[in-house]
Amino acid sequence: MKGLIVKGIGGFYYIETAAGLIEAQGRGIFRKQGLTLCVGDEVEVSVLSAEEKKGVIEAVLPRRNHFIRPPIANVDMLIVTFAAKSPKPNFPLIDKLLIWAQAQGLEPLICINKCDLVSAAAVSALAAIYEGAYPVVTASSKTGAGLEKLKAHISGKKAALAGPSGAGKSSLLNALHPPAEMETGQISQKTQRGRHTTRHVEIFAVEGGGRLFDTPGFTSLELPEEIDERELRHYYPEFDAPARDCRYDDCQHLKEPDCAVRAAALAGTISPQRYQSYIYLYEELKDKRKY
Ligand code: GDP
Ligand code: ZN
Repeated sequence: MKGLIVKGIGGFYYIETAAGLIEAQGRGIFRKQGLTLCVGDEVEVSVLSAEEKKGVIEAVLPRRNHFIRPPIANVDMLIVTFAAKSPKPNFPLIDKLLIWAQAQGLEPLICINKCDLVSAAAVSALAAIYEGAYPVVTASSKTGAGLEKLKAHISGKKAALAGPSGAGKSSLLNALHPPAEMETGQISQKTQRGRHTTRHVEIFAVEGGGRLFDTPGFTSLELPEEIDERELRHYYPEFDAPARDCRYDDCQHLKEPDCAVRAAALAGTISPQRYQSYIYLYEELKDKRKY
């Protein structure tokens, strides 16, 4: 029977199947193969005891992607979350997460949280930085603003939250949690000892048909080594249209003559903030390569 690993605690996995939630371990061969089961894995499970809802994971279906830290698989969307205020947005860090998501083939979504702390004008100004490049949701896990929109974006997908610490990722996760989490709730009571002594990863169903990984990972990161600074411009989707008018086809949009991207940033038709952040990351990548 096919199922989805929705929770993993110290070698025990909880599989959502048509026959309900099943507790299972992976076959011994997985370890020999160096295969670590991940929450988000689609698996073939055989039921040993229908009564106790116990089984064995026989096989892992092909993964669209998987990550080691946190150990999750088949991630569709990365919700890059930052606070409108406290902490102050760190624009290069946000761009790093966006670039990383694109490099991994994850669909990026910008979520500006804590919008209750600033004026509507300030929220619009922040959203304007990313609009045109990525979908943007302005939200407040405190007031509930934007959560319906967020649910709509997650619908049909497996999403993970990323962003600096203090941005409100845990709060968003709690706010998006459906109240009817009874089944996994009961399981976690049974394994409460495990829950408190072992790190566990879980994926929650979100109202509207999406799923959200409960992971503290993806908070800050280095740009992937394999990204060359000369390729960086391709990770800024809003540069594509103006770049067609640059004098040189391989324009890096730095100090080249007749650079239409730089002109667009000066004119404000693309976000000067993003352009600044591009130059900052370009230099960072270039310096890194020197060593
Ligand atoms: P995380 O580190 O990204 O998981 O952030 P947390 O969810 O732990 O939130 C950090 C702090 O911000 C906590 O004190 C939350 O109560 C607060 N917080 C989270 N979301 C909001 C929000 O939408 N508005 C306000 N005013 N505070 C928030
Ligand atoms: Zn250019």
